[in-house]
Amino acid sequence: MPLSESDPNPRVPYQHPMPPDAQSDIVVPNAIPDDDRVWVPQAEGVFFRPLCLNISQGYWMNMLRVTRAGVLSRHRHPNPVHGYVIKGRWHYLEHDWVATEGSYVYEPPGETHTLVVPDDVEEMITYFQVNGVMYYVDPYGKHLGYEDVFTKIDMCRKHYTEVGLGSDYVNQFIR
Ligand code: FE
Repeated sequence: MPLSESDPNPRVPYQHPMPPDAQSDIVVPNAIPDDDRVWVPQAEGVFFRPLCLNISQGYWMNMLRVTRAGVLSRHRHPNPVHGYVIKGRWHYLEHDWVATEGSYVYEPPGETHTLVVPDDVEEMITYFQVNGVMYYVDPYGKHLGYEDVFTKIDMCRKHYTEVGLGSDYVNQFIR
């Protein structure tokens, strides 16, 4: 039976309250911000814009922005990553494909790669879901550093304090 026949009131909103223990939703009208202060610098020419910093499941949703000079340091993923290219294009030194505007990219657990934006692209913006950690390594896999949702939150607090938005500005993205 089609759904329209089983539900005689398809436009009537759900009549019960949401579960009392459910978290509040997040709506970010300007996911690509008008205010440049919202971009958090993470390396030379590399910035991120937090959207959801999930501290109970250990992942983060963010816009990654890389300007012409930027390289995202070589890193390994123990967990999957999903990406959608909104602007510009980029590639990994380890692969021969190019992620172009409108592309979806899946990075499987076990991937180690180095993201580069070509010289003729002034700016690239990609929406990424990153799970667990970014494990930074040298060319042979030796550990150099890491990022997780908690280091991301720390970076946001520090930056938003410096630019005058305040340390608590990041709280709206934490769940
Ligand atoms: Fe990656």
